[in-house]
Amino acid sequence: MNALIQKLIELQTVDLRAADLRKQIDAFPQQIAQIDHTVHAGREAVARAKQHVLDLQKDRKKLELDVEDWRGKIKKYKDQLFQVKSNEAYKALQEEIRGAEAEMGRAEDRLLEEMVGAEDADREVKEAERLLVEVEAAAKKDRERVTAEKAVVEKELAEVEAISKARLAELPGDLVDHYKRIARRHDGIALAPVRDEACSMCSVRIRPHVVQLLRQPDNEEIYHCETCTRILYFVEEQKPAEGTKEAPVAEAGS
Ligand SMILES: [Zn+2]
Repeated sequence: MNALIQKLIELQTVDLRAADLRKQIDAFPQQIAQIDHTVHAGREAVARAKQHVLDLQKDRKKLELDVEDWRGKIKKYKDQLFQVKSNEAYKALQEEIRGAEAEMGRAEDRLLEEMVGAEDADREVKEAERLLVEVEAAAKKDRERVTAEKAVVEKELAEVEAISKARLAELPGDLVDHYKRIARRHDGIALAPVRDEACSMCSVRIRPHVVQLLRQPDNEEIYHCETCTRILYFVEEQKPAEGTKEAPVAEAGS
């Protein structure tokens, strides 16, 4: 195989790896944001539970005032009982007293319900706080893990970029420009191995005399696929084991 092609294959392999690593690096902020979101949701749950306790306390105050209010009214009506002159007025007052007592009873029942509800609400605050502690501990671990993963990826990217730079320095500038142009069009894959006399990337047939030329070890010429324009190269197929069709020799880019 053409020595330049060999270097291009190496260049493409590291360039594809670099692109993959950059994609991973780009995804890290999103991972951190997701971790932060779990903590934020945990804090909100605690805040909501505490607000519920406060709301219940407010309701309770109001109900206590209602009970006092009705108690005062009942007392007032009872005092008036001694002052009324007519039988009708007496009966009307008694009716008022019964109504007020019923109202007071309802307010007292609701007060009791509120007190039971307040105990549940206190428990909910404790549970939300307990969960938040767990969520914060898990988030701390996750952030450390992501940070460590990012460091590994960044280190590999630096290594891969150094190799890419070294390969670029070894190749003629116009060939590099050519390679980059094709790579940009094809998701980073500018090279196509010829298999079964066809371009393995787009499956179009390659003319037999071109295949013959590509097979010559001292061939210096660069040939392109007429359909996808990728740079062609030929790899001698190693005899695959019987029954297996896959024998990806020098697979470009993976
Ligand atoms: Zn092609």
